[in-house]
Amino acid sequence: MVELGEFERQLANGVKKLKPYQPGKPIETLQRELNLSTVTKLASNENPLGASPNVAQAIKRAASEIYRYPDGNGFKLKEALVAYYEQEIEPANITLGNGSNDVLELIARAFLNPGDHAVYSQHAFAVYALACQAVGAKATVVPAKKWGHDLDGMLKAITPHTKVVFLANPNNPTGTWFDSKAWEAFIANVPNNVLVVLDEAYAEYISEEEYPHGPNYLKRYRNLIVCRTFSKAYGLAGLRVGYSLSSLEIADYLNRVRQPFNVNAIALEAAVAALEDQHFLDRSCELNNHGLEELASELHAMELSFIPSVANFLCVNLHRYAEPIYEKLLQAGVIVRPVANYGMPHFLRVSVGSSKDNMRFIKALRKIL
Ligand SMILES: *Cc1c(COP(=O)(O)O)cnc(C)c1O
Repeated sequence: MVELGEFERQLANGVKKLKPYQPGKPIETLQRELNLSTVTKLASNENPLGASPNVAQAIKRAASEIYRYPDGNGFKLKEALVAYYEQEIEPANITLGNGSNDVLELIARAFLNPGDHAVYSQHAFAVYALACQAVGAKATVVPAKKWGHDLDGMLKAITPHTKVVFLANPNNPTGTWFDSKAWEAFIANVPNNVLVVLDEAYAEYISEEEYPHGPNYLKRYRNLIVCRTFSKAYGLAGLRVGYSLSSLEIADYLNRVRQPFNVNAIALEAAVAALEDQHFLDRSCELNNHGLEELASELHAMELSFIPSVANFLCVNLHRYAEPIYEKLLQAGVIVRPVANYGMPHFLRVSVGSSKDNMRFIKALRKIL
């Protein structure tokens, strides 16, 4: 028998009000629930091309070694990342994580005490709030500007008690981004004892000239932590690998709270293989740009507006509660992401898929509306 509340008094403070992260519905779950044979999932910003074929080979090789513990220092992957960043960083600047989600939590754990202050934006990636709440930190949620981060507002929200500011560029779920000029004006004015976490989960997709690539600012700002992931453009979401780049000192602190083997042996090898296939990345970006245009023109034709996005997803404005439409899309075998929990109850976030998947979504949505 389940006794609810039996141990509530024993809970750590931050955990009491914590609501678990809501992931996109898995394909198999919907297939089971509705007995559907084909399901299209455009709910978790996954790469419709999958991963580089090199990755499958690397996994096969790594599979015969899984009885051994992984390299807890991730030597090979760090060397591959140093080469990727053309020796601008050292291995000791890198902290590997079980997804960049892990790194975000390491940051909160290493730097935030109960009652400490953090800053992030309205409609920002949900993990910042979760990571802060779990350690009992307080946060100021700065109102968004045109759905994106209001960097001036975020600067003003920094107090003498602020320890960490979280930024997503581009942001998920809105797809909005800030340019070099706005970023430089921001970071130059953040007190240098405040940590700035720049989450660039979608950086590899971005071709805008004015996009400020975080790694370029590490030398100048020792309070900067740049987070990146293999989950999105590299297509390794299921393996869980991400990393941060930071000063040696910050990397040392993060390393103290990191689980000794937080990235598994298969993921380490797969990430090295993924990094080496830049051709796959180029194809992924090309397909994504094409898909964004395709979705945009179809939505225009349906007279639906959406938030302009530079990432591999976009938020469609339905001008009414989106939940019932989300449910009807599920019935039609299409999984997208409701974003009411982001304070956007009239929007649905749709990931850019293959042309076939995009059109299945568009056709289903047209029929429903
Ligand atoms: C997807 C995502 C992440 C986390 O991805 P991982 O799979 O944990 O690496 C981090 N930040 C943003 C903004 C994301 O959209």
